[in-house]
Amino acid sequence: MDTEFISVTEAREAIHQLVAQLSLEAASKSAPLALNEVIAIEHAMNRILANDILSPIDVPAADNSAMDGYAFQSSQLQNIKQEKIKLKIVGSILAGQTQEFNLSPSDCLKITTGALMPKDCDTVIPQEFVELDNDMISFSVKAVKPGENRRLRGEDLKANLPALIAGRILRPSDIGLLASLGISSIPVKRKLKVALISSGDELQNLGAPLQKGQIYDSNRYSLQGLLKRLDLDLIDCGIVRDNPDSLRKAFIQAAQHADVIISSGGVSVGEADFTKQIMQELGAIDFWKIAMRPGRPMAFGALNAVAGKTWAGKTLFFGLPGNPVAVMVTFYQFVRSALLELNGAKLTRPTLLKVRTAEAIRKKPGRTEFQRGILFKNDQGELRTKTTGSQGAGILRSISEADCFIILHHEQGNIEVNDWVDVEIFDGLL
Ligand code: AMP
Ligand code: MG
Repeated sequence: MDTEFISVTEAREAIHQLVAQLSLEAASKSAPLALNEVIAIEHAMNRILANDILSPIDVPAADNSAMDGYAFQSSQLQNIKQEKIKLKIVGSILAGQTQEFNLSPSDCLKITTGALMPKDCDTVIPQEFVELDNDMISFSVKAVKPGENRRLRGEDLKANLPALIAGRILRPSDIGLLASLGISSIPVKRKLKVALISSGDELQNLGAPLQKGQIYDSNRYSLQGLLKRLDLDLIDCGIVRDNPDSLRKAFIQAAQHADVIISSGGVSVGEADFTKQIMQELGAIDFWKIAMRPGRPMAFGALNAVAGKTWAGKTLFFGLPGNPVAVMVTFYQFVRSALLELNGAKLTRPTLLKVRTAEAIRKKPGRTEFQRGILFKNDQGELRTKTTGSQGAGILRSISEADCFIILHHEQGNIEVNDWVDVEIFDGLL
């Protein structure tokens, strides 16, 4: 293999190293990047939690019923020799009520879901299992075990133990959990500021007619979409033409305002020399040839601090390839996790699914391929995957129709029908 190429794993590792270094620098200088802000939980979706959140209370705060039914003492289940138990209903307790009852062992209370368990009672028989006869119920001893259908105090969360850990990307369930603890505001990381640049003489803005040789700037929109799924501040720098002055001006301006610059186009062989010249003036940028498909060329590094920036810090830089599919694949495989990590998120690599492929796929060892695929059930109801057809790096349809990447790893060769392959589900992320 050409030794100029680096593998996907090596690229990931290099990105991780630089991100970790920039995060440390920012933290040591209390730079804006490292700052937190306190926000109301209704605005917390997709934000990154800055500190551990300790539960201030036990959840639930007291034992309560998990069902609509009848609360009783489970000693009844052990004592009784016959198959049916008969209990007397001596009252009822609804969720939110606090009255006390004195029950004898052969008594029960009608109870609703969420109502406090009466003292002496430890079990609830759901109402669908009982026969009701005036103020008496009867049910089979087999219908319930001691302690069933009761939620114990603190079984969800215990007071003073961490309910959520710093670095968590907050999801609807987390926000519900915070609310269940009575927490209405939380510290989160400041939003990352990300500048977006499209580069190329052939690019045209939407709304203007295409002249000969022009194409519409679609990357700006697919990248905007990808970035909107992460809650960050987007700075749209528009189209920059392929000349040194425009590029230099655009990058300096972007670096003044952004923590990260993402550009697309202008990094492939031929053009790279040109962008390289500017990048070497402005910072330390590597021009990678990654052993992957799509998305071979990529520039990565940090721009030096520039005059006018709010703090004397570097700007992380991703120069993505121009091809519309390559730009999305490289974003998803490298940039997304880097942005989240730089913003303080704790990440794990996504879980890959093993699925049999319904088609043969040609593949050369020595590069990683991210084929765009769909998952489906065959006639036997078994899960299968296949590609979305033509896989050119410029064919946006191949990714728009896909719901997963079929990942063919670095060392893998040709794939035969029914071989197992690794699949990464987009799950709304792409
Ligand atoms: P480049 O990396 O600049 O050599 O571009 C590779 C291919 O991607 C070329 O066919 C470009 O026209 C195309 N391309 C570059 N930038 C964009 C963009 N912003 N939107 C759509 N296509 C682009
Ligand atoms: Mg170009």
